[in-house]
This record gives sequence, structure tokens and C-alpha cells, in this order.
Amino acid sequence: MSDANLIPVLPAVTAFLGREHGLFIDGRTVPAQSGDRQAVYGPATGEVIAHVADGDAGDVDRAVQSAHAAFRSGAWTGLRPAERERILLRFADVVEAHAEALAQLETLNQGKSINLSRMIEVGASIEYMRYMAGWATKIEGQTLDVSIPVPPGTRYTAYTRREPVGVVAGIVPWNFPLMIAIWKVLPALACGCTVVIKPSQETPLTALYLAGLAAEAGVPPGVFNVVTGRGSRAGDALTRHPRVSKISFTGSTAVGKQVATAAIDNLARFALELGGKNPMVVLADADVDQVVQGALLGGFLNQGQVCAAASRLYVQRRRYDAVVEALGAAVAGLSVGPGLDPGAQINALVSAKQQQSVGRYLEIGRAEGARVVAGGRVLDRPGYFVEPTLLAGMRQDMTLVREEVFGPVLVALPFDDVDEVVRMANDSPYGLTASVWTNDLKAAMNLVPRIEAGTVWVNSHVPVDPNLPFGGYKQSGIGREFGRSAIEAYTEIKSVCIAH
Ligand code: NAD
Repeated sequence: MSDANLIPVLPAVTAFLGREHGLFIDGRTVPAQSGDRQAVYGPATGEVIAHVADGDAGDVDRAVQSAHAAFRSGAWTGLRPAERERILLRFADVVEAHAEALAQLETLNQGKSINLSRMIEVGASIEYMRYMAGWATKIEGQTLDVSIPVPPGTRYTAYTRREPVGVVAGIVPWNFPLMIAIWKVLPALACGCTVVIKPSQETPLTALYLAGLAAEAGVPPGVFNVVTGRGSRAGDALTRHPRVSKISFTGSTAVGKQVATAAIDNLARFALELGGKNPMVVLADADVDQVVQGALLGGFLNQGQVCAAASRLYVQRRRYDAVVEALGAAVAGLSVGPGLDPGAQINALVSAKQQQSVGRYLEIGRAEGARVVAGGRVLDRPGYFVEPTLLAGMRQDMTLVREEVFGPVLVALPFDDVDEVVRMANDSPYGLTASVWTNDLKAAMNLVPRIEAGTVWVNSHVPVDPNLPFGGYKQSGIGREFGRSAIEAYTEIKSVCIAH
């Protein structure tokens, strides 16, 4: 792959990478108290591209105290909803003005295709920002009839109001660093909360850039803070801080359980968006070409580093060989290259650690008897590349059918009848998403309620929308993001009862 295929990096991006990055607390950039710093790597090359501050518990305390003071001051919470909405819409405009810089930065730091960064990480996030800004003026309660009999002759009028929950801790993973930060910040701010974001240590750059843009748009100091650092240090301290009222965590199920335990200690509210091992169920009448396109998108978008990704492909036996053969050819034909090359369809994984982890899973798959239909190798070249892989000959008890690989690896299994595939699809501790592929409406409508997942697509896999609740059943999480559910997640209900 020659550099001639790479898009030119904007001077503003090069300048941002070279900055002396700090933490973003109380509306400005400050160094970590310890002075500790951490290198940030570019997955396409494996080289260091920036350094950021490695925050600790003291830094987290500064950020939370700032968010708490901003919350109490009313500088944000006390604004008229229309003013909050206007500032958030301006925030979206400022992000749009910096769209290309943000997209390039994400591709350089996360590895994903520049097309994906432009379209989803930034483009879809701007739409989400505007959608959530609109909620600031649409938060509502209820009036309720009550029957309180005392004192005799007294009448009551009762109503509920939704009030911002307080300081929100947003803990963000590395797969969609900008988008998932925005998923947390915008509804929290629309509700009048203040926020401390802890990005993943692998991908801290766009959250820092975003915080600067929020300030430029007029979000007051202390309302949106960012502490970069390790999960075991800054992340842990944030989840334990007594002034945090709500924790919104997206990441692995194992860490999510630790976060929930810490939250319970303070009785902080929490929402967990965790892992998935999502089934794609293909009935015999489905269109093979449509299934192949759907599996490429659902299974290999962002190199499969998508919590909602299709990772178990169940095909009704009559069509199994045809689907595996066509999909195998399509997967083998995907071009591999750096994210800055818009023609490269499969890009580097986020880190050397993730590359090793996927490589280990591929070895386990082979050792357990999987048949490699396409790909199957960690690539011996600079950067963290793994071939897009389709494995067949799988059994339900194999490791790669049970565990989340979080890489470009799809496993295929045949099934005979619908009852059998329902059992197989639900035979997982996870329950984030699923898809059903058929042109038989009755069959689809019968399957949808039987699948244990927070989202079920029919003839599609992976698109999300700001208005459609998103979250997991079982060990894929607790709570829902997006839509009205997001507003409910960042507010408390206050009941007001007036005697007259
Ligand atoms: P991770 O759990 O390792 O890390 C997520 C975040 O938690 C990071 O910011 C990390 O620094 C922080 N963290 C780590 N240890 C912590 C601790 N003890 N206390 C507090 N914070 C801590 O996950 P990851 O590897 O960054 O992301 C991949 C995982 O995220 C996958 O399992 C994937 O399925 C899941 N994910 C889920 C969704 C969803 O919406 N359900 C979306 C994206 C990713």
C-alpha cells in the first residue's frame, strides 16, 4: 500500500497531535497533578502519535468538584431550557465546523476507516447532538389525582417534575470514542446535568478536542470535564467518587460489573452498556446476496469492534453451504489497509493488545476444529492488522461461539428448524442485539419476541438511531440509551403534592 492512497492530514490535526495535552477541568486545560503522562499510539503504524496526561484520583476529585460546583451554581441547570437547547445546537454547529479534523483524528488514533469516521463517528454524532439538544425543551412530568383523606376537607393537587440527576460520570470505551462520549454528554447536558468523561486510555484524543469545542460553543466552565488516564486508576476513582450521582458506563461486561459494585456503595445511579455475542439468524427463504451484504456490514464494520456486531451466523441448513461459500468469497475479497486510505475496507485493530487477543482467539478456533473459510491470520506488517475471517464447522459449545472476540471474525453454524435456532441464539450470557433474515413476514414476527436481545433487526444488522432505545438484555447491560429513555436516565422524578 503506497502513501499515495492516503488522504492528506490537515495541519490543524498535526498541530493538535503535537500539543502538550492536559486534562480539561473547569473550562481549561490543566496538567495532571502527578505530572504523569502516557503515550497514544496510531494503530495503522504502531507508532506513538501523541502524549496525554495520565490522571489519578486527585485529578478526578478536581474534575468532580468542578462539575459539582457548576451543578450547584445553577449556571447550567438554572438556564431556561431554550437557552440550554440553543447552546447545545451551537455545540453541534461547532463540531460540524471541525468535522474533518475530528474524523482524521479518530482514524489516526482508533484505526478505523476515514469513511466510517466521517459518516458515523462524526456525521451521525452531529445528528444525535441536534436530536438530544431538542429534548432540553421537551422534558415533562405528569399531573396526578390523589385521594389523601386528611385533614378532612383538604384538597390536593399533585404533579411530578423531572430534575437533573446531578454530576454524571461517563466512562467510554475505545471502539467509537467520539460517538460514545457524545452519546453520554448530550442527553446529560440537555437534562441540566454536569459531566466528567473518562475516555479509554487507548483513544483519549477526540474527547479532549470535543471538550474544547463545547467551551467554544458557550458551555460554561465545569459543565463538561474530561479526565484522561487508566481505567484502574482514573476510571476506578471516578466510579467511587461520592459526588457522582450517575455513572454511565460503556465497555466490557467484566469491568461493568466492577463499576456497578462501586456505584452501589454510593447508591449512585448507573447504566451499563456492555458486551455482546450477537446472532444473525438466516432462514432458508432469505436472499443470499442481501445476507452477504448484511453480514459484511454487521460483522466487519469497524473491524468487528462493535458491541452490536453480528458475530454468530446461523443459517438454515438448506441455504447454509450457499451462504458460507458466497460470504467466504466476499470476505476474502475485502481489501486491508490503513484507515486514512478511503479504499481500504478492513483497517487496523485499535491496539497491539487487541490484535494479540484476536490472534489468540483464532488459534483457539483452529485448535477446537473450526474450518477457516476466509482469512484467519494476524498480518505480519507494521500496525495492528488481522485478516477478516469467516469460520465454519463450528459447534455451539466452541469458545468462538460463546465468547466476544471483538475483532473481524464471524462464525457460521447451520440449524434445521426455528425452535432449534431460538435455543441456539438465546444460549449465551449476552443479549445485546440480534437479526432475523427472511422475506416471510409471519416467520419474522414469530421470531422477534422469542429472541432475548435489546434490539432485533429484520433484514438488517447494526444501524442505530437516536430515537430508538439501545441497550442490553442479560449480561449485555442495564438501562437504555437514546430517545426518551436517555432523558429518563439522566433525571430523577420529584413528586410535588400541594394541599389547598
Ligand atoms: P473496557 O471495559 O476495558 O474499558 C471501558 C472503559 O472503562 C475504558 O475507559 C476503561 O479505561 C475503563 N475502565 C477500565 N477499568 C475500569 C475500572 N476498574 N473502573 C472504571 N473504569 C474502568 O472495554 P474496552 O476494551 O474499552 O471496550 C470494549 C468492550 O466494550 C467490549 O466488550 C464491547 O462489547 C463493549 N462495548 C459495548 C457497547 C454497548 O453499547 N453495549 C458499545 C461499545 C463497546
